[in-house]
Amino acid sequence: MSETRNHHIGGEKVEPASGAWFDSTNPATRETLYSAARGDAEDVNKAVSAAKQAFESPAWRDLTQTGRGRLLRRLAELIAENADELATTESLDNGKLLREMRGQMTGLPEYYHYYSGLADKIQGDVIPTSDRAVLNYTMREPLGVVGAITPWNSPLTLTTSKLAPALCAGNTVVIKPSEYTSASVLRLAELVDEAGFPAGVVNVVTGFGAEAGAALVDHPDIAKISFTGSTGTGSRIASSVASRFLGSTLELGGKSPNIVFEDANLHNAAMGVVAGVFAAAGQTCIAGSRVFAHRSVYEELLERVSARAATIKIGDPLAAETELGPLAFADQQNKVAGYVDLGRSEGARVLTGGHATDGGGLGGYFYEPTVLVDVNNGMRVVQEEIFGPVVAIMPFDTEDEVVALANDTEYGLAAGVWTKDLGRAHRMANRLQAGTIWVNTYRAMSPMSPRQGFKNSGVGVEHGQETIKEYTQLKSVWVNTSDAPVADPFVLRS
Ligand code: NAD
Repeated sequence: MSETRNHHIGGEKVEPASGAWFDSTNPATRETLYSAARGDAEDVNKAVSAAKQAFESPAWRDLTQTGRGRLLRRLAELIAENADELATTESLDNGKLLREMRGQMTGLPEYYHYYSGLADKIQGDVIPTSDRAVLNYTMREPLGVVGAITPWNSPLTLTTSKLAPALCAGNTVVIKPSEYTSASVLRLAELVDEAGFPAGVVNVVTGFGAEAGAALVDHPDIAKISFTGSTGTGSRIASSVASRFLGSTLELGGKSPNIVFEDANLHNAAMGVVAGVFAAAGQTCIAGSRVFAHRSVYEELLERVSARAATIKIGDPLAAETELGPLAFADQQNKVAGYVDLGRSEGARVLTGGHATDGGGLGGYFYEPTVLVDVNNGMRVVQEEIFGPVVAIMPFDTEDEVVALANDTEYGLAAGVWTKDLGRAHRMANRLQAGTIWVNTYRAMSPMSPRQGFKNSGVGVEHGQETIKEYTQLKSVWVNTSDAPVADPFVLRS
């Protein structure tokens, strides 16, 4: 029997009400790592009730904004002290390279430092009025209990994008991590408690989307849902919360274009294409999975990208030399293989890759880095999110043509542009329908830089100061300081 991990509710380890656990496996080897509590509506009830109690408790409600900032700073320090353990935990759980997860965990404290600095800068405004005796001011108040639902591809980073600003603004939180990656988020909850946050401010209910996730979305005491995951699930969540007039922040899928112009530094552009879609085995929402290359450099770019793709070292994500780990679970491997077969049947040619592997005897869910050519923007393999190491590369002739092709998608998460022409770079930044535009780089991101998906890639902003609005509600207060008698009660003036 593998080690069990229980929910984290009100500062305690809480066994699942159902008495059921489910296995979490290492996708590189298929070995069972641990069993996590299988949460249901009863567990969610307990967690929301603990979060509600914590929200109303003087220990949290009366804590000054500076005090909240201090706790966030302490949490940042604890994460930094435990970065190596957290990185290994995530790499084992989702199969991403240990060195990538180390990079993420080293960067994670920056998010808490950033929001720690922002905690005492959340403030309202004084609004001008037409009467000097009347004072009108606004306040930004926390919402209450925030439900955070997150995917498996970067568990702690994506949880932190929600947790840090939610706490900064004074909310309490119930997290439902992905069923594939419960361990690191449970460990984070321990660090939150160790940092000195009152019990119940952060709670974690593990389990499946249809059980624990749906129960959290439907809970009447939730003030907001902040979700990162697929567009399909996001759409279901949006419908459910809309009928209750609840706010939601939704960070969803993508099919991002990466555009290489004829004047680009072709080596860097090719490496940008490789980084954009083969890093993390393509399991990133921002994967640059549709590449458009100007016809004059198309062949050369293909050569450079496929040559690098063919030498990518597949293997154990914990090993320093590995460049591509497994997909996170069996269905994900089947999905990727299914899409490449679909591409073949649509007429695409596989230039490199195109096969599932077991990672050189490891037994896991690997898939070769795959380059598809002879494709067009209308094919399903080019339009639908694959979430794997598969890139479709197409030629284009003019700037207008590539703008139209790049924007011809239901998504709008990110876009890459490779050019040395500054004017063109800015024109493209203006014309591309995507929340993040990278010029001569790809995958850059920071807690300070706000991001928002266009079209079906999301609703609401994460990161930066802007996201604080997502976790606060605005109140407008009018105070009449004059004691002059009211002349006409039916025409009260401001
Ligand atoms: P998913 O939608 O299957 O699951 C995400 C989370 O939602 C999980 O915790 C899951 O248990 C939960 N869930 C599933 N059904 C639910 C329901 N009915 N009610 C409530 N919760 C439910 O997504 P995934 O496969 O875990 O993640 C991959 C997807 O996430 C991709 O589409 C990717 O593009 C997207 N993603 C987006 C961003 C972004 O910032 N835009 C970042 C990372 C990943």
